Amino acid sequence: MKRIGIMTSGGDAPGMNAAVRAVTRKAEHEGLEAYGINYGYAGLLAGDIFKMDSRSADDIINRGGTILYSARFPEFAEEPVQLKGIEQLKKFGIDALVVIGGDGSYHGALRLTEHGFNAIGLPGTIDNDIPFTDFTIGFDSALQTATDAIDKLRDTARSHERTFVVEVMGRNAGDIAMWAGVAGAAEDVIIPEKDFKIEDVAAKLKSARARGQKHGIIVLAEGVMSAAEFAKKLEPFGDFQLRATTLGHVQRGGSPTAFDRVLATRMGVYAVDLLMEGKGGLAIGIQNNKLEYHNMLDLFDSKHQPDMDLYKVAKDLAF
Ligand code: ADP
Repeated sequence: MKRIGIMTSGGDAPGMNAAVRAVTRKAEHEGLEAYGINYGYAGLLAGDIFKMDSRSADDIINRGGTILYSARFPEFAEEPVQLKGIEQLKKFGIDALVVIGGDGSYHGALRLTEHGFNAIGLPGTIDNDIPFTDFTIGFDSALQTATDAIDKLRDTARSHERTFVVEVMGRNAGDIAMWAGVAGAAEDVIIPEKDFKIEDVAAKLKSARARGQKHGIIVLAEGVMSAAEFAKKLEPFGDFQLRATTLGHVQRGGSPTAFDRVLATRMGVYAVDLLMEGKGGLAIGIQNNKLEYHNMLDLFDSKHQPDMDLYKVAKDLAF
């Protein structure tokens, strides 16, 4: 193996650049070359590919977004398009590929491996919704952004004795909501993995009011419903001075936290090690602070499980 390609695909996440840097520098350290592929699978097909070196990976570890850009390219689900992608890789003398992205990106990487071209996936998404890894690259940064926002909303909630319903990202996963809810001492946390009764939420707010606390924060995962819809459902149950706030894409941006940088760096280095061993079709994860890999096929058969112990902690403290 001489040349490793690297691309970011699907939704961007803080820490992707740290992974790009790690793959580039590790490749160089091992006497290999790294090639950046812009715009995910779309750029692969278009031949938007360039040689990277330690200098092109300079000063990117702290930058949010992805210097390799990202793009949706549904056509890559078709086999002739995948084979064309391999042709492009070969044209540039690339022998193996690291793909940073989510579930969809992993499908593309597995298809390439099945066609004889080794590809390895790194979990890059703020949603923390990938199986077999405790954390995805970008989750911690998004969590910090959500927590900072909740802290700020709490200030104004207290001043005006209002209740904020704060909708956070996570797609169908409640991880950002749960962690941000605990970190931000929310009065309640609502996640898609657990049913809730709007009456119970109202009862909690009422009992807090009876104790003299007239402001509050409810953290709502986007996978449940929108903040506006939730506030509408809650409104008939009492005068809570409700305000709905959707944090939105601000959670996807910003400089990655130290945790995400270190995670992405460790995973990037590990991916190069595995490719050098001739492996492919694997998804890298971290479990109990140990890097692991799993077959992508097994991963597609599994579902991410949120940390229900943490959910219980959130609920035990919210009354
Ligand atoms: P994520 O990787 O974050 O889940 P997407 O689902 O948008 O994001 O997938 C990113 C890209 O991966 C898609 O734009 C497409 O190019 C590729 N992809 C998605 N699904 C498949 C599939 N079933 N087979 C091959 N490639 C796929």
